[in-house]
Amino acid sequence: MAHAPITKSARDLRVAPNLADYADARASFTWSGARAALDGLPGGGANIAHECVDRHAAGPRADRVALRWIGRGGETLDLTYADLRRSSSRFASVLSGLGVERADRVFVLTGRIPALYDAVLGTLRHGGVACTLFAAFGPEPICQRVAIGGGRVLVTTPRLYRQRVAPIRHRLPDLEHVLLVGLGDDAPPDGALDLDALVAAADDDVAVAPTRPDDPALLHFTSGTTGTPKGAVHVHEAVLAHLVTGRLALDLHDDDVFWCTADPGWVTGVSYGIVSPLANGVRSVVDEGEFDPERWFRILAENDVTVWYTAPTAVRMMMRLGIDAARAHALPALRFIASVGEPLNPEAVRWGIDAFGLPIHDNWWQTETGGIMVANYAATEIRPGSMGRPIPGIDVAILRRDARGVVVGTDGEPEIVDTPMTEGELAIRRGWPSMFREYLGEPDRYAKCFVGDWYCSGDLAMLDADGYVWFVGRADDIIKSAGHLIGPFEVESALMEHPAVAEAGVFGKPDPIAGELVKAMVLLRPGFEPTEALRLELIGFGRKRLGAAIAPKELDFASSLPKTRSGKIMRRVLRARELGLPVGDLSTLEPEGNGGTEP
Ligand code: ATP
Ligand code: MG
Repeated sequence: MAHAPITKSARDLRVAPNLADYADARASFTWSGARAALDGLPGGGANIAHECVDRHAAGPRADRVALRWIGRGGETLDLTYADLRRSSSRFASVLSGLGVERADRVFVLTGRIPALYDAVLGTLRHGGVACTLFAAFGPEPICQRVAIGGGRVLVTTPRLYRQRVAPIRHRLPDLEHVLLVGLGDDAPPDGALDLDALVAAADDDVAVAPTRPDDPALLHFTSGTTGTPKGAVHVHEAVLAHLVTGRLALDLHDDDVFWCTADPGWVTGVSYGIVSPLANGVRSVVDEGEFDPERWFRILAENDVTVWYTAPTAVRMMMRLGIDAARAHALPALRFIASVGEPLNPEAVRWGIDAFGLPIHDNWWQTETGGIMVANYAATEIRPGSMGRPIPGIDVAILRRDARGVVVGTDGEPEIVDTPMTEGELAIRRGWPSMFREYLGEPDRYAKCFVGDWYCSGDLAMLDADGYVWFVGRADDIIKSAGHLIGPFEVESALMEHPAVAEAGVFGKPDPIAGELVKAMVLLRPGFEPTEALRLELIGFGRKRLGAAIAPKELDFASSLPKTRSGKIMRRVLRARELGLPVGDLSTLEPEGNGGTEP
C-alpha cells in the first residue's frame, strides 16, 4: 500500500452516488430484494431482451436514444428503445421463419455494426442463445468456437463469410443457416441467405419468448490468456447482476451517456456494452472504429459521455502519448471512469486525475462471473493498486492453497485465509445471478471450479483489513522464486513507475538454483533508446523498489508485448518464447505491433 489513498469528498461527486455508504449498502442489500428492480415476465419468467428493450419501449423512455452508433467514417445513427424493439422483433421473426428453436445457438461475427445489436437482442427475444465472436478472428478460432457451441445460425458479413467461414463451413455440420448482412444488390452465395432482405419482410412486433430465469441466454468464450478458450454459459437471470452492477459499480443514472469501449466479442462488450446500460435505460455510445486515442478523446467530447468504462491497455496507450494529448480535449461532461480486464497500475489511476481530473476506478470480474464482482465505487476511497471491494450481494474470500496450488480444505469445505494481506485464491460464494452455469462440453472442468460453497476464480489475491481486494496474479502466471511467490503485476507496476517504461510483461524463467527467476520484458516510451545503460538502470530501479528477492534478475527490451485482442498481456507466450517452447493456443493473440488495441 505504498500509494496514498485517494479520498472522495462531496465536491468530487457531481451527482448523488447510487452507493453512498459502502457498509450500509452491503448490510441492506439482498438479491431477492434487488429483483424488484426487474420488470419480469408473467408467472416468474425472465428475459434479458424484455428488461433491456421492451420494458423501456413500453414506457416514457420509448423515444430515448438507446444506442448512438458511430460509424468508422464518423457518421452516426441513433436508435431509440422503440427502434430496438422493432429491429430485434424483426430478427426474432427471421429466426422463427427459419425454424430456429428456443435454446438454439446463434453466433454473430461482425464488426460493431447495428445488425450485431439487433441479432443479439433478437436472439434473446426469440429465446435463443447468443454468442458474439470477435470480427478479427481467423477461420480456425471461428471454427473451434462455433463447433464447441454447436452453432445453428451464424450472422456475418459477405467479406467475413468469404474469407473466414466458407473455408471451414464443411467442418460445421450443425451450422444450418448463414445470414449475411450488407449484401446490397448482390445475390447471396450458395448456402447463405440475405439477412437484410429477410429482415425487411419480417414482423416488427414480436413478443418476448416466455423464458425462465435459469434458461440459457448468452455464451461467452474466455479470453484465452492462459490456454484454450472456454465457453461459459449464462442465463437470463444474469440481467439482474448487470442492472445492479451498472448502478452500483458504474454509478449509472437515468440521464447518463455511457460508453463501454469493449468489443462485444468479449464478455465486457456484451454485459456492459449491451445488457447493463440498456437494462438501466441509459443512452450508450457504440463506436465501430478501432482504438485511436485522438478518435476516442473526440468521441468522449462530442457525445458528452458521462460514464466511461474502458481497459488498462487503452489507458496505458493514452499515457504513452503524454498528458498534453489528453488535456487538449475538454471533457466537461465526463464524471466517472472505470476500467477492467487487467491490473490497473497505481500509476494509471493517478494519471486519470492528471489527465481528466478523475481517478480511474478499477474493477474485477471474469467471463465466468458474468458481471462485475469487485469494484471501486464513485463515493468510496480508492487505494491505488487495489481492485476495490465486493459488490453488495457478493461475498468473496481468500482460500488457502497448498504448495501444488490446490485449494486446501476439510469435508469439502475450503480453508479461508483470515489474516489480512495474505495470498490465496480469490473465491466467490456461489449463487449470484450472473454465475456461469456451464463450460460447454467440459463438465469436469466446471465442477473443478467449485469447492464447497465457493467458486474458485484461478486468480490469486489478498484482502486488507478493510476488505479491499489486492490482485496478486493469475495462478498460472505466479512466479515461484527461491521460496517466494511473486505476482507479475507487482513487478510490472513497479517498473512502470520509471519514466522510460511504457509497459512491462513479467514471467518466471526456470533457474536451477531459485526454481524460477523473475524476468521482465519492457516496452519503452517514445524517446527512450534501448541501451545497455538503461537496462542496468531499470534492473537497479526494480531492486530499489521491490527488494532483491522480487525484482527482475533479467530484463530485456521488446518492441511489442504479446497480448490478447482484449488487451491482456499473454505472459505464457513470453515465457514459451524465452524457452523456445510451443506457445499453445494463439487464437486470441493480437497481431503484434498493433499493441493490443482492441480493449
Ligand atoms: P482464460 O480464462 O481463457 O485464460 P481470461 O481469464 O483472460 O482468459 P477473461 O474472463 O476475459 O478471460 O478475463 C478475466 C481475467 O482477467 C481475470 O480472471 C483476471 O485474471 C483478469 N482481470 C480482470 N479484471 C482485472 C483487474 N481489475 N485486475 C487484475 N486482473 C483482472
Ligand atoms: Mg480466465
